[in-house]
Amino acid sequence: MKNVNEFLNKQEITYQENVSFKRLTTYRCGGKAKYVVFPDSVTKLKSLLKYLKDNNIKYKVFGNGSNILASEKDYDGVIIKLTKFNKYTIDNDVVTAQAGVNLSLLANELSKNCYSGLEFACGIPGTVGGAIYMNAGAYLKDIASLVIDVTLLDENLNVLVLKKEDLNFSYRSSLLQSKNYICLEARLKLEKQENNEQILTVVSNRLKRRLSTQPLDYPSAGSVFRNPEDDFAGRLVEECNLKGKIIGGAMISDKHANFIINKDNAKATDIKQLMDLAQEEVYKKFNVKLRIEQELFNWE
Ligand SMILES: Cc1cc2nc3c(=O)[nH]c(=O)nc-3n(C[C@H](O)[C@H](O)[C@H](O)COP(=O)(O)OP(=O)(O)OC[C@H]3O[C@@H](n4cnc5c(N)ncnc54)[C@H](O)[C@@H]3O)c2cc1C
Repeated sequence: MKNVNEFLNKQEITYQENVSFKRLTTYRCGGKAKYVVFPDSVTKLKSLLKYLKDNNIKYKVFGNGSNILASEKDYDGVIIKLTKFNKYTIDNDVVTAQAGVNLSLLANELSKNCYSGLEFACGIPGTVGGAIYMNAGAYLKDIASLVIDVTLLDENLNVLVLKKEDLNFSYRSSLLQSKNYICLEARLKLEKQENNEQILTVVSNRLKRRLSTQPLDYPSAGSVFRNPEDDFAGRLVEECNLKGKIIGGAMISDKHANFIINKDNAKATDIKQLMDLAQEEVYKKFNVKLRIEQELFNWE
């Protein structure tokens, strides 16, 4: 990867070297990424991807890293951050938000400005791109319910716009998980209301509920497991008496059993072992296979 610096300098793409995944993920653990790059235009992103593909250099797009458990291994590749794709516009009731926009901040801004729809996203610490990829949601709502269309970069580096019905959205899932597409921006339909009173009440209630039920004072990546149909992963883990279980620096939260927290300088392997343990115990007791909602990155 000797010439990477040369390429990035020539293309004027900002980058950092040997960056710890402690800084790139909300779990605050893991090894180091050889490069983290911050392209600021689609043209630069395309030339970067072409270069990486031509030179067989592995890469991965990261949003805010709030749904990723990176392993302790160093990653000999390039993490692409779309932090500079951070603009949004509002036209009538339609918000066009670039992939790097902070979802929670966007939800707050829109709520204050009397737009209803994204209240559920206040408190989800991801980006618009990550939310589209995961179909982020809460309180029985998800981002798919607002999507009009999404602008993507496909594997051949063509820009395409896919309508909601072509994006295969379902519970915490989207087409992006099966195709190597990069989300560039999304158009969301909101509802403009006369004042923000009701919207802000919903936002405040949701945030209070998060604060009272989630261990927000420790690093985590939100819910570890997908809820099985008609049940709650947290309930199953709790019934196995695993709340408060500690391995190394990680702990199954004693506040919410579907959260694993980085309590004290946890290694990624501590967190992974707790995931495995919870899966095993739940399977033994309930014959239910819990599926991990978070992404294990750089483990193979
Ligand atoms: C305290 C806490 C609470 C949470 N609460 C919720 C919740 O209520 N509901 C919920 O759904 N989630 C929740 N999460 C999980 C997480 O915030 C969401 O899944 C979020 O959508 C992830 O966004 P991100 O930008 O951090 O994505 P990342 O974690 O960085 O990436 C996740 C995946 O998306 C891909 N990706 C990111 N950006 C792009 C892009 N531009 N194009 C293509 N792929 C991309 C990545 O490659 C990766 O595969 C919570 C997390 C925490 C820490």
